[in-house]
Amino acid sequence: MNNEKLDDVIKQTESFVKNFDKFYGGRLYIDKDFIPEVPQVQTAEPETEIPAAEVFEDTKPKSVKKAAQKIKDNGSVAAEDFFGNVEVKREDWEFAESLEELNSKIKDCKKCGLWKTRTNFVFGVGNPKAEVVVVGEAPGADEDIQGEPFVGRAGQLLNKILAATGFKREEVYILNILKSRPPGNRNPLPEEVDACRPYLDKQLKLINPKLILLVGKVAAESLLKTKDPLNKLRGKTHDYKGWKVRVTFHPAALLRNPNWKRPTWEDMLQFKAMYEDITGKKLEALPDDI
Ligand code: URA
Repeated sequence: MNNEKLDDVIKQTESFVKNFDKFYGGRLYIDKDFIPEVPQVQTAEPETEIPAAEVFEDTKPKSVKKAAQKIKDNGSVAAEDFFGNVEVKREDWEFAESLEELNSKIKDCKKCGLWKTRTNFVFGVGNPKAEVVVVGEAPGADEDIQGEPFVGRAGQLLNKILAATGFKREEVYILNILKSRPPGNRNPLPEEVDACRPYLDKQLKLINPKLILLVGKVAAESLLKTKDPLNKLRGKTHDYKGWKVRVTFHPAALLRNPNWKRPTWEDMLQFKAMYEDITGKKLEALPDDI
């Protein structure tokens, strides 16, 4: 510290003491003649290489914010205090070690308003060790009543599509972006998708499939966080947190528009080829076709 800086410090201290004096009757004083011993700055020898200063600015807050966001994305509750410390409150379901345990821990979920109108929480169905996970949008009326995804007309068509590709329904795992039915089958709201996504992620972690098939625009938009039209997303392999993802039409859309059956079948042939390539297994169409 040079003398100029020292003078500054003294001035500031005097001003503080004056104010202190005002409020507390001034039993403090500062001895202006007292000059504290100033530690000598050690200068580097000319030949000594001075290491580049480490840049700390912003590093902590950014990494802390990122960590907090990651934790939030995982569904935990994270709060950041004034000093940038993150307090994490992990929820019980995050520790589930099986799909069954997870279901039992989340089935009474009230994180969005859909719990008020649902009959059943529709967790998902299938082989807990499935190599293929099919992701739909949300339960409809039939699914809400039966507590199982894809059991209505669209579900029957999905079964046929899977069979034609070479998969039995029980062999794959079928789930939805939302676990509760939106009233009147309206599209899921962004906050409902956000509230439910951590459950889906946990399901995927527990199953750890080789391939994911997203059926329909809503599933594709929600999971891949894109506004691209379905046709732009089909025919490509996407990534969701390290899992390979393919996209095709929703079976309910095929019921409305049978012209989409052909492109769906083309998507499924590509899906099948990819599955065979990844697993080294050969798929044979099962009886039943679209
Ligand atoms: N549509 C979906 O997206 N999911 C279901 O479970 C049923 C219909």
